Amino acid sequence: MQLKDKIAVITGAASGIGLEIARQYAREGARVGIADLAADKAESAAAEIRTTGGQAMALAMDVSDEASVQAGFDTITAAWGVPDILVSNAGVQHIDPIDALSLANWKRMLAIHLDGAFLTTRAFVRGAYPAGKGGCVIYTGSVHSHEASLLKAPYITAKHGLLGLCRALAKEGASHGVRTNVISPGFVLTPLVERQIPEQAKELNISEADVVKNVMLKHTVDGEFTTTDDVARVAVFLAAFPTAALTGQTVVVSHGWHMQ
Ligand code: NAD
Repeated sequence: MQLKDKIAVITGAASGIGLEIARQYAREGARVGIADLAADKAESAAAEIRTTGGQAMALAMDVSDEASVQAGFDTITAAWGVPDILVSNAGVQHIDPIDALSLANWKRMLAIHLDGAFLTTRAFVRGAYPAGKGGCVIYTGSVHSHEASLLKAPYITAKHGLLGLCRALAKEGASHGVRTNVISPGFVLTPLVERQIPEQAKELNISEADVVKNVMLKHTVDGEFTTTDDVARVAVFLAAFPTAALTGQTVVVSHGWHMQ
């Protein structure tokens, strides 16, 4: 029970990576807020965790909306107390070359990834600082926080931006006992990635099998997708880490896709 009695808000936790982090946090004794735009799926995820003996509540939240983020934090704080852990994980992908990219899609991507990370971070520290009990913020970055691929300019820009926010919070949060790190996964077979396989095949004019083999997994050491379990184990490790020796860092979890 590495996270016994900790209160965690995990955004984008109704699916994929966030859902597995929520399951593993609950298994380690944390009470988890499943914050997601997909309110029904968040309810189902929370119910699943409760049936396995964990404590979870769904929080309907659009991370890009200031009032929605605050309402989610108010709900969990009123029910359980000030959160100890934030996993800022909600995200979407958009596939387009820069010359075809609309300003609306550019702004939408930055709003979900960067406004979302900022708004949830601010809501978290506004609770954590006065509570004086420290805390931990984890951002889900990506191998695309460190390098680029074709067709993903706004995603790559936003994921690079998370490194800056993390480092800024590492400095500001230190005197309040708030630590923060980025987890940068390689390709994980979640709905976010399943959707882009046919999209990339079309844009690059190659088969879907070639997208998987030559675009997604070519640079791994073992030809394997990173799993939600791989990422969630690291999220448990970082949340449970006891000191600020690990703050402002990035852990790349990618089967060697990217080596720092
Ligand atoms: P997913 O599609 O399975 O889950 C994303 C979740 O985010 C969904 O439940 C969705 O409803 C939610 N969401 C989307 N917009 C939201 C908003 N505005 N407010 C609140 N919730 C919102 O995707 P995933 O692969 O689990 O992705 C989770 C995170 O991991 C994302 O930040 C993504 O960029 C990152 N990531 C994914 C991969 C991968 O290969 N799957 C690799 C690196 C990083």
